[in-house]
Amino acid sequence: MQGKKILVTGGTGQVARPVAESLVPENEVWCLGRFSDQAARKELEELGARTVTWDMATDDLEDLPRDFTHVLHSAVHRGDGQDFEETARVNAVGTARLMTHCSGAEAFLYVSSGVVYNRADSTHRYRVGDPLGGAAPWLPTYPVGKITAEGVARGLAEALALPTVIARLNIAYGPYGHGGVPMILFNEMRKGQPCAVPREGQNYCNLLHTDDVVRQVPLLWEAAQVPARVVNWGGDEEVGITDLLEYMSALTGVPVTLDRGDYSRETAIFDHDARRALIGDCSVGWKTGIARTLAELFEEYRDRIDEYVGQHAAETAK
Ligand code: NDP
Repeated sequence: MQGKKILVTGGTGQVARPVAESLVPENEVWCLGRFSDQAARKELEELGARTVTWDMATDDLEDLPRDFTHVLHSAVHRGDGQDFEETARVNAVGTARLMTHCSGAEAFLYVSSGVVYNRADSTHRYRVGDPLGGAAPWLPTYPVGKITAEGVARGLAEALALPTVIARLNIAYGPYGHGGVPMILFNEMRKGQPCAVPREGQNYCNLLHTDDVVRQVPLLWEAAQVPARVVNWGGDEEVGITDLLEYMSALTGVPVTLDRGDYSRETAIFDHDARRALIGDCSVGWKTGIARTLAELFEEYRDRIDEYVGQHAAETAK
């Protein structure tokens, strides 16, 4: 992608930061946010991105240019688990302000989440069109914020004739920000904390490495349309969370304690047919991606990971 004027929210976050960084060399990239992470702001600016302080809870966009060609709206207010009204308001108003301000853009991408789906059993492959109404016992406000903002994105796509794509992300991970759910779990393992898993079976997800996120964002922009297009966005493989924990343990030697019980962080797997037809396959296999991410984020395990990967080359081939 070249010569475009791109607006990114959530540019200090795990998902959008690598995208912003990858687009900077050949495009004009503006990042909006509160920049609670000042170091991230400085690094983005050093790479050539323009940064503008914007709190989507309170701030309008009056002083910002309007002639953006592409918008990646990745910022999220997940809420504190109880502030349903405020979570709905912040995510809705932030999305509305961006879309009305950039109504002449070629494409608007709203990063939603698989958390919007009504929970089915752990082997169900969610499709766009499945019942909504997500429940997240670990953060009940989160799905409310995402479903509300999706509604705004759908409504304004048509009202403004703004080509829009709503991408319901599965689990993204990689060496940025918090590293994604796998790295959050690995940090629990390092602290000796037990990892909550189902009493029977395991939770499954479609891990998506940030390299694929970076590659696929421009493809998703190309798929934007009126009415808004909704797409499930995840990695190709179905990964068991318990398998993931055990693999991270094997790679690093950090022991994992499984806490089998009734409450674990439920994840979801997607039916990929529509996504594959639209933007193709992923390029990073989960075992390779997890090994690379752990080695990049945790230097102390690098040698051991290299050794393990060398011994199990066939299994981590992609
Ligand atoms: P992070 O938690 O890493 O980052 C959140 C981003 O939102 C930060 O850049 C933060 O910037 C910005 N933000 C939060 N509140 C505000 C605010 N009031 N005003 C302006 N900016 C704000 O998020 P991720 O990168 O993990 O997630 C990105 C998107 O992807 C989100 O929409 C999320 O719902 C979705 N998603 C992510 C998944 C994942 O696996 N990571 C899975 C499914 C969906 P700052 O603090 O500087 O304001």
